[in-house]
Amino acid sequence: MKSKTMKRYNFLLAAIMLIMPIMAVNNPKNVIVIIGDGMGLNQICTLDSPNNFERAQAIGLSKTYSANSPVTDSAAGGTAIACGIKTNNGMLGLSQDSIPVKSILTILKENNFSTGIVVSCRINHATPAAFYAHQPNRSMDSAIVSDLYKSNIDLIVGGGAKFVSTDSLKNLGYEICNNLDDLKSVKKAGKTICLLAKEDMPVAEQRKDTIPQAVQQALRVLSQNKKGFFLMIEASQIDWACHANNAQHLKTEVQDINAVLGTCMDFADKNPGTLIIVTADHETGGVSLLGNEKEYHFSTGKHTGVMVPIYSYGTGAGNFSKIQENSEFKNKILDLMHISK
Ligand SMILES: [Zn+2]
Repeated sequence: MKSKTMKRYNFLLAAIMLIMPIMAVNNPKNVIVIIGDGMGLNQICTLDSPNNFERAQAIGLSKTYSANSPVTDSAAGGTAIACGIKTNNGMLGLSQDSIPVKSILTILKENNFSTGIVVSCRINHATPAAFYAHQPNRSMDSAIVSDLYKSNIDLIVGGGAKFVSTDSLKNLGYEICNNLDDLKSVKKAGKTICLLAKEDMPVAEQRKDTIPQAVQQALRVLSQNKKGFFLMIEASQIDWACHANNAQHLKTEVQDINAVLGTCMDFADKNPGTLIIVTADHETGGVSLLGNEKEYHFSTGKHTGVMVPIYSYGTGAGNFSKIQENSEFKNKILDLMHISK
């Protein structure tokens, strides 16, 4: 009798184990896209352990060229990731023919998912703007901010206080906070903007763990929506460190994204149905590793056109383990979520 029960139990367990991976693979409800601006493979190699990139469950490569250049800028690179189209350098959320294209963030917002952006630059900078703006030039700050007002993003964290009107934001129903403590007291997702600097945020060495902490809060707030959420995080200043050929700054910015990634992976472990994608819009600096003492060298102060890595983790991660265009992310993720474009 006992062994019969055991047999039944074992059969049930085997059946569940067979079904579970099938159920878990393809249906994320929470999506976290982490963009290291200018982060090629060699930038990540500056990390010592613990290296959270090594926890990735799948690795791929992204082709970063834009519609009009083999070397993209962050506007076209961000637009490719956010909106699923290759456009000209400098353009945000528009096709080459200047037709507005909805970003994955906008589409998920329209489908009642919570949405968030956390960046270490100003919130109207090219990469975050690619997720909500539709402008022919990334330098059009006031037009980009007008688009931000219309975006209805639930939680925005970054620098850029001097570019926005707090009166306009309040009239739109936004709750405004200016420090991490205020962010920690936010109860639920819904039109919160946290402006932590007048312009861009300070460098990683000065801002300490502000971004990992902000990400922790963003996950806490956004995950209250049981339908799910979309969170875009940008490690904006990897690009700037590489433009300046500053290896020390580069290392600290990569350590910062590594901490953010660890926070997100821990969240995914506890919240099945979470997909994390980590990639870059382009590589900056042509970084190489020479000598016996881990010397980092830069071959340029500009962007390069090499492929950049894609690390993925969580539900549906295996779908990103190939060589793909940077314009494939949006549709792939929406397909996995069974959301029409
Ligand atoms: Zn750059």
